Amino acid sequence: MPQFDAIIIGSGIGGLVTATQLARKGAKVLVLERYLIPGGSAGYFEREGYRFDVGASMIFGFGERGTTNLLTRALAAVGEKLETIPDNVQIHYHLPNGWELKVERDYQQFLENLTAHFPHEKQGIRSFYDECWRVFNYLNSMDLLSLEEPRYLLRTFLQHPLSCLGLARYLPLNVGDIARKYIKDPNLLKFIDIECYCWSVVPAAMTPMINAGMVFSDRHYGGVNYPKGGVGQIAQRLVQGLQRFGGKIIYQSRVTQILLEKGCAVGVKLANGDIYHAKKVVSNATRWDTFGKLLSAPQIPINESKWQQKYQKSPSFLSLHMGVKAEVLPMGTECHHILLADWQKMMDAEGTIFVSIPTLLDPDLAPTGHHIIHAFTPHWLADWQGLSPIDYQHQKERVAAGIIARLEKIFPGLDAGLDYLEIGTPRTHRRYLGREDGTYGPIPRRKLHGLLGMPFNRTAIPGLYCVGDSTFPGQGLNAVAFSGFACAHRIAVDLRL
Ligand SMILES: Cc1cc2nc3c(=O)[nH]c(=O)nc-3n(C[C@H](O)[C@H](O)[C@H](O)COP(=O)(O)OP(=O)(O)OC[C@H]3O[C@@H](n4cnc5c(N)ncnc54)[C@H](O)[C@@H]3O)c2cc1C
Repeated sequence: MPQFDAIIIGSGIGGLVTATQLARKGAKVLVLERYLIPGGSAGYFEREGYRFDVGASMIFGFGERGTTNLLTRALAAVGEKLETIPDNVQIHYHLPNGWELKVERDYQQFLENLTAHFPHEKQGIRSFYDECWRVFNYLNSMDLLSLEEPRYLLRTFLQHPLSCLGLARYLPLNVGDIARKYIKDPNLLKFIDIECYCWSVVPAAMTPMINAGMVFSDRHYGGVNYPKGGVGQIAQRLVQGLQRFGGKIIYQSRVTQILLEKGCAVGVKLANGDIYHAKKVVSNATRWDTFGKLLSAPQIPINESKWQQKYQKSPSFLSLHMGVKAEVLPMGTECHHILLADWQKMMDAEGTIFVSIPTLLDPDLAPTGHHIIHAFTPHWLADWQGLSPIDYQHQKERVAAGIIARLEKIFPGLDAGLDYLEIGTPRTHRRYLGREDGTYGPIPRRKLHGLLGMPFNRTAIPGLYCVGDSTFPGQGLNAVAFSGFACAHRIAVDLRL
């Protein structure tokens, strides 16, 4: 007899939302996490009085209204709430030829800021971003659950026929096609590219319109809000809520195998040899890890190889986690920055630099008189392999010095004001996050039909489900929370809960 209704491999936000939703519905749930704490890419670590976010720090989904505030909803479902601090500027862009632009929380202000640079595109700018709002308003009018559940689809269609038809129309579309309908100026189109690239890691032509509708509108609606105490609090609170509803989590439990019987997933085996059985098994690991490592070659469904022909692993990141003296930051510095010196290099390693300074919102994350700066830039694992320990160290120091030199332009005196520095490479991301090649997630190999190619939660193996950024609708905390709600919904129906 299975010991659990569902076993969830991994406690990223996707895994934890699945687990909490199922526990809330009365399922007996076990989460197995290979690391010491929950959260995965939304985890944290502490050094010398600083609390650093591992990755995510620009957080959507904490709004109070509508249905797209999925982090607020996931926490509330298990009796939890987090204090959050609103960020009034989503991104301060530092772009080629000295172009500076702030994406204000206020939509009209943002449009005015952008239009000031492209007065001849005033109408095109409004029409493009207004079309993103249309997508968002459709999404924000309905409960976001499993698109693999026919009764939910029918019910939602009967309740919101126009939104459903609207979304069906946008599902196969990419941002680039819509942007080009309204905008002609090539420099403005480049800006739309980086607006997409900074979260989808592909240009507008390959970024699904559904995701853009969420990001480009929710930043002005629910807004970007930082959780007090750091991003790690989200996972910690979800675990608290899981336990409140009888769910169990075991850390330092690396799953090495998904057990199949007659082709169905029935349990998991851990690195220490322990075996657990469940009616349903959910993998929160990436698809490459799930189907490449936790199952053996003959068990891999053919549609997974087909999926890999359409999607590839995005690069990983090189991360600089810095503790700096407060005087390094000029007055009025914003929390999130993006630096790009050359449009041609937007997608290259070190081409685009992303910066988060969460202590501007929550000073308690650093010792008094200090701030945290997390600077990260795309990097491929291949460039960090086969190095001797000393060469690896030198390469880390060389790349970090180049990034610090570039950051000096906006934070003069940064190098001299450094109090702490930890450098994470793609190898670090692979090791601590358990993600193959340290990848940020799947990206299309070529232009695809919007989100149509992204798999939902069920897999071709009965009893095995996937959740997280390798599933619809992709990367980002609010997106993987969506995936978690959908996964739990589908499983609850399958378990007749
Ligand atoms: C540098 C960086 C910056 C980012 N910035 C943002 C941002 O500002 N805003 C935003 O919304 N998103 C951001 N993201 C993306 C976001 O963090 C991720 O999309 C999201 O956290 C992924 O969640 P997940 O549930 O899919 O999986 P993960 O976070 O990868 O969690 C998976 C979990 O499964 C565990 N696991 C894996 N294999 C096993 C196994 N075999 N056995 C047991 N446990 C296992 C892992 O240890 C991990 O805890 C960023 C990501 C990075 C790396």
